[in-house]
Amino acid sequence: MSQFTEGANVDMIAIIKSIKDAMVAFESSFPLDSLQKTNFGQQPFVTLLTCSDSRVPENVFGQSFNRIFTVENIGNQVKTSEGSLLYGLLHLRTPLMIVAGHSDCGALKAAGSDYSTEPEAIVRELDCVNRSLNEILSSSQTLNGEPIVKYTQLAELNVDMQVKYLLGNTFVARLVEDGSLSIIGIIVDLHNVYGQGYGKSYLINCNGMRDPNKLKDIGYLNGLFVRMKRLTVV
Ligand SMILES: [Zn+2]
Repeated sequence: MSQFTEGANVDMIAIIKSIKDAMVAFESSFPLDSLQKTNFGQQPFVTLLTCSDSRVPENVFGQSFNRIFTVENIGNQVKTSEGSLLYGLLHLRTPLMIVAGHSDCGALKAAGSDYSTEPEAIVRELDCVNRSLNEILSSSQTLNGEPIVKYTQLAELNVDMQVKYLLGNTFVARLVEDGSLSIIGIIVDLHNVYGQGYGKSYLINCNGMRDPNKLKDIGYLNGLFVRMKRLTVV
């Protein structure tokens, strides 16, 4: 249920007004000067893969206009949107790739349940989530018994798997090797599962490296030093 829905009644007038207000705000703050400088072309420096979940908007990482090339799908899966991601990395050549997962991800929960009666397209995407989890869970990871913690642990492992998939692409791996691309994995903790506050984000992976102590040795990640923390053991 949305804030504009009460029982069977939908206040569509209020919804359209909300959208129109946002359009007017965008128009009035349209960054024409900076866009003219790039000859109206796009020059993002981040390719972002995140979950479609509306609690994890791209602006977790700041204004997205001409900064962030965003790809979203349920469960932040590389395989669901691989072409879009490769476009950001290989053609737009963003130097940073962020894979962002989050606590309480509905896609991860759904993938662990019986979703066989869902429409075929949803089944296909959840199969993708399922394969990611099965692949990474085969390495005997112990999960917490409390669901909110368990699913955040799975969100971490799912992000790890997506970074691994990206590094499995020869062209992407080459960019990482020559230092022109970094791939980082982030968890957005909406539920204070990590115990340091609601809405905080944590760095859990960089180019496949997952140990927080080793991540601290990567100089350019210094700004995220206090955010290097994970629930799963590596
Ligand atoms: Zn999600």
